[in-house]
Amino acid sequence: MPVATNVGIIYRSTAFSIYLMTQSIFNVIASNQPQTWQEILSDLITDPKELVEALNLNLDSKPVSMAELRKFPLKVPRPFVLAMKKGNWSDPLLRQVWPSKEEDIKKEGFSPDPLKEKEVNPVAGLLHKYQGRVLLTTTSLCAVHCRYCFRRHFDYDSNSPSREHWKNAITYIKNDSSIREVILSGGDPLAASDRQLSWLIERLESVQHIETLRIHTRIPLVLPQRLTLNLSNLLRKTRLKVVIVIHCNHAQEITDLVKAGLNLMSECGIVLLNQSVLLAEVNDSSEILAELSQKLFSVNVLPYYLHMPDKVTGTVHFSVSRSKALAIVKSMQAILPGYLVPQLAQEEPEKPSKTHLI
Ligand code: SF4
Repeated sequence: MPVATNVGIIYRSTAFSIYLMTQSIFNVIASNQPQTWQEILSDLITDPKELVEALNLNLDSKPVSMAELRKFPLKVPRPFVLAMKKGNWSDPLLRQVWPSKEEDIKKEGFSPDPLKEKEVNPVAGLLHKYQGRVLLTTTSLCAVHCRYCFRRHFDYDSNSPSREHWKNAITYIKNDSSIREVILSGGDPLAASDRQLSWLIERLESVQHIETLRIHTRIPLVLPQRLTLNLSNLLRKTRLKVVIVIHCNHAQEITDLVKAGLNLMSECGIVLLNQSVLLAEVNDSSEILAELSQKLFSVNVLPYYLHMPDKVTGTVHFSVSRSKALAIVKSMQAILPGYLVPQLAQEEPEKPSKTHLI
């Protein structure tokens, strides 16, 4: 089909030109930024003092929880910092990464493993919770440490990904023909190199009953330089249907560079969905979430899930009550078309699927 192929090439090259143009604009604006995603990943901001200085803030006015910082260190990629508003402790992006003293708050019902993932971990590196799909902890590495993360206490040491683990996981998948979808999670699966992803995808596509590869990732928002032409080529050539679920919580995260990277992915036929976590003082209003849905749609991403935050130790300050969550989604229903209203859901251990709350 030469005509279609040519059109495809034109589309792809247009997307790539826009991507390159945006990259170079980005590099001019932030001329001291490293250029490759690997370089940015190896130069994350890990010192709270450096972060507050970059944002013209004062460390004394928002003390950190030293205990939680030691257990779950600060990690922020510089492109994500550029998307934050300076001089504003209430910035919704900053709140997601700041190891606030509020993390010391203890509350009944909060625990290190609220989803009881240890109980659905039959092979190292693989979680089998729901019928027909399994999750691989592709890498323990994340580009950012989100303070609300439900895996902030996950036992990555026992599930640390290695080819040996992956081989055992693939054998498990081969032996269960009811599994049709493999979800790459982490850590963040896009923190793995193209070589590692390619190795893994080749093995997964050789399992006949696997049809879909789903990638759950926050990297497109915090390190959009990772969405390269190489990656899109890698994902285009697999026989598996590829779905990327980005984890975007606020419209402010969708910068021009994010838009260009997502455009590159959607041009090669990847289905793009979003899941957000409902977080107090980040996105707990129908106006903020409606703006997010509209902005997502403008970059070819459909809202998919809005998750109630999991009750993980250290995250009490992000809690939103169920009644408030329901009211927010009802307001969204009144102002948005149905396809832009995400499903309000909660993960509960020992349930055969997520609980839809509305
Ligand atoms: S990127 Fe995902 S896994 Fe990593 S800290 Fe954030 S929420 Fe957790």
